[in-house]
Amino acid sequence: FWLKFYEEVRKLEQTLVIIKPDGVRRKLVGKIIQRFEERGLIIKKMQQKTLEQPLIREHYAHLKDKPFFDELVDYMTSGPAIVIILEQKNVIQIVRKMIGATNASEAEPGTIRGDFAIGTPENVVHASDSLESAEIEIRRFFSI
Ligand code: UDP
Repeated sequence: FWLKFYEEVRKLEQTLVIIKPDGVRRKLVGKIIQRFEERGLIIKKMQQKTLEQPLIREHYAHLKDKPFFDELVDYMTSGPAIVIILEQKNVIQIVRKMIGATNASEAEPGTIRGDFAIGTPENVVHASDSLESAEIEIRRFFSI
């Protein structure tokens, strides 16, 4: 029993999800969280906060030379966001599939962006895209 228990726990992954300021403003928080819960994903932590510019600049550092970078930083810091740690087996890949393509016009119906997003940068949600970035992002947004 204990060996099996240990193996199950070991397989658990965590990912960082952000309901971006447009999602909060448009009162989509409940609907989005409901999708994660119905999928069987566990909410380990959840907090509302207005994200600070330096944090967002660091988070999106890989995009700093893009023409939309300043607009992206302004948008992400424009009001309260919800930061969430979700836990489950394969949660990183599952949540990336659930949120859909970055660009709203390419996001499939049935995905969060495909159902709720208008365009870029306003695409309602963020989710970590790999094990490595999930670990970094969880530490970054929850300072642990
Ligand atoms: N973004 C944008 N214009 C673009 C591409 C991205 O405004 O042409 C914004 C959008 O909000 C996106 C974020 O920058 O979610 C981060 O982009 P990334 O390529 O990391 O996509 P994601 O991992 O969010 O799907």
